[in-house]
Formats: sequence, structure tokens, C-alpha cells
Amino acid sequence: MTKIASNLQIDSTRLWGTIHETAKFGATAKGGVRRLTLGPEDKQVRDWFRKACEAAGLEVHIDALGSMFALRRGRDMSKPPVGLGSHLDTQPTGGKFDGVLGTLAALEVVRTLNDAGIETEIPICIVNWTNEEGSRFAPATMASAAYAGEYSTDNILARKDASGMSVGEALDSIGYRGSEPVGQRKFGAFVELHIEQGPLLEAERKTIGVVDRGQGIAWYDGKITGFESHAGTTPMPLRRDALAALSEVVLAVERIARARGPNAVGTVGEAVIAAPSRNVIPGEIAFTMDIRSPSSETLEAIDSDLRSTFAEIATRRRVEIGFEAIWRKPPTIFNPRLVDAVESATKALGYSHRRITSGAGHDACNLANIVPAAMIFVPCKDGVSHNELEDATQTDCAAGANTLMHTVLALAGVAS
Ligand SMILES: [Zn+2]
Repeated sequence: MTKIASNLQIDSTRLWGTIHETAKFGATAKGGVRRLTLGPEDKQVRDWFRKACEAAGLEVHIDALGSMFALRRGRDMSKPPVGLGSHLDTQPTGGKFDGVLGTLAALEVVRTLNDAGIETEIPICIVNWTNEEGSRFAPATMASAAYAGEYSTDNILARKDASGMSVGEALDSIGYRGSEPVGQRKFGAFVELHIEQGPLLEAERKTIGVVDRGQGIAWYDGKITGFESHAGTTPMPLRRDALAALSEVVLAVERIARARGPNAVGTVGEAVIAAPSRNVIPGEIAFTMDIRSPSSETLEAIDSDLRSTFAEIATRRRVEIGFEAIWRKPPTIFNPRLVDAVESATKALGYSHRRITSGAGHDACNLANIVPAAMIFVPCKDGVSHNELEDATQTDCAAGANTLMHTVLALAGVAS
């Protein structure tokens, strides 16, 4: 295998052009993109992407959940390809970069290798995963999760959107129900480039985030049971006020997450009083908690902090506080060899960088469960994402694509 000089660079203008060209599929008045998965705009961008891949000499295959795989042959076709890519669907009021950057940068990598006449030893394969966003169909990252064996294909095909249309029907309606069994196509490694969707890189003026971990998530449903009574006649010391207890619960979640920082976060996102009334002391409240950390030990520690703190609040206030974990996603630990490969590429290219944890879920986090995987982050303006104002610079997008290309070349090797 020959070593490729780090002066091989992608075409920044061409990459920027494709990002803006595809942004017209579902363009919104405020400069964002509305491209819900498996809708008409998603079909438009998929058709565009398929054509562009075929024009670049790739064989495009589609699996039973509509994920697109564009294969560039390598010298040794007995080896599973290095996968690279992301997603082309967006939030209802999404931006031009979330997912799009990683998918189109992968295309730009292939175009650059074609122009330079470089054949890799191991094949490479661009992926456009179906429904990363999860806003039309739940869950998010459903196709890569099914690919990684977390759900059966039938389970996902039966999921319905708000209008009652199933994933299967939506796939048929745009002609993207493929014949390839989900998970059949194997990868030797998978690398995803993405905007950070957070503020750290920008604040520290770093160009590349070398992602080594993804947040684990614990979701809880909770219920506080006090006693409803008259707001005028019940003396303060005799009250068993569920809402007052919830107020302490919310502050405790905040304090506990902060104490386990900097990477732990905790949120009470929903709270519903069972029978709200101006002159009744609330007797029953349902609430939810979302706790995240890149460390399993921290998630465990927070869980036990919550239990002991809530028990103390419940005793003191003479209410019941029940809560149960309804969903748990372990932290993602990206493959150290691949993380090092990303970091080496970053250094060889001379970009400033730092190790970083992904706060959001990504397709690469699912892939990491079954194959060595890694992610590359670039800054986005003010850390804003899932918003029409989402923005990133041409220079940073190009830096991310160059890092992606040199990581992939290090993993796939150059045929001599
Ligand atoms: Zn995304």
C-alpha cells in the first residue's frame, strides 16, 4: 500500500455547491430545509443522490428500509468495504447541514479519488441512512438501528406517521423499498462526518472534533402522589402538595446532573398535573426525566443519587414519588483505532482539534455496536441545529471532508 500525501484535498467549491444544490429540495423561506423522511422532497434528493453516485461510477443498492448504499470497488473485493456517510432527511424546520454534510462529503471524497485516479485496496461504500431524524416516524436513526440488529425490519416497516401511513407504505409511495435484506451488507469500518450541533468547537476555535464517545441516555417516567385538598382551608403544615414536591424534584435533577458534570445532563421535560384547579392543592403529577452521560458509571451514580434524594423529599413532604426507567441506551464508545485514525488525519492536515463527546444520537452510534466506527465533527454557528438558521462555513465543511477522506484512505489503503 502506498501512502497518500496529505496534500490531496477535496474540492471545497464543488462540495459547497452540492450542499446548496440539494438544499433546494424542500427549501424553506427562512433559508432552511423541510425534507421529512420518505416524503416527496426526500424522493427528490434521493433521486439526485443516486444519479450523482452513478455518474461517479458507484453501484447503488437499496435495502428493505430504503437506506442507500453506493459502492466504489476496491482492488480486493473479498474485504468488507469502509462505510462513510450520514443522512439526507431533515427536521420539519431543519437546516442545510445536519446529515447532508456527511453524505455529500462522502460523495465529494469519491469524486476526488476519481479525479486523482486513486484506487483503494479495500472497497468503500457511501451510505444514506433512512429516517435519521425521527420526526415523521419514531424512533430516530431507525434504519441504522435495524441494520445493527436492534429492531426487526418488519417492526420498523409497521411504524406509522401521524397520518397513519406506515414506513412500508411510505417507502412504496416514493419507490424506495429496496430488495436487499437489512443488515446483509457488511462493513469493515464506518466513519460519519457531522456538524457538532453544539457550541464547544466554535467556543474553543477548534476546526475538528475527534468524537470518541456518544452520550448514554436514560429515560424515566415518574409520578408524585400527594393529597388533593382545599386551597383555602388546609393549613400549610398539613399539606401534601405534589407540585411543591415536584419543584424540589426538578431542582434536585439539575443539582445532581451538575455535580456529575461536565458531561452529565438531566432534564425534567414534561410535568402534568392530573386535575389542575386554581383552588385545589395538586394531589397527583406525572413527570418525565431525561438523563445523559457518556459514562455508564455516571448514569448509575445519578440513578442512585436520584433514588436517595427523592426518597428524602417524599418522606419529608409525606408524598409518594415513584419512578421507573422506561428506556436506556448505553453510552457509545467509538473504536479507539478509528478514533486514532481520525486524529492522525487531522494532525497530518494541520487542523486544530479536540476530543469530543457526541451529545446527540447518530447513525454511527448504532453502527458502533456491530462494527468499528468513528465520527468527525465540524463547528456550526452558535451551536445551533434542528433550526432553519443552522449554519457552517465552507472552510470548516471542507476541513471535515478532508479529514473524512484521509481517515477513509488510512482505513481502506491505496492500491499500489
Ligand atoms: Zn443528523
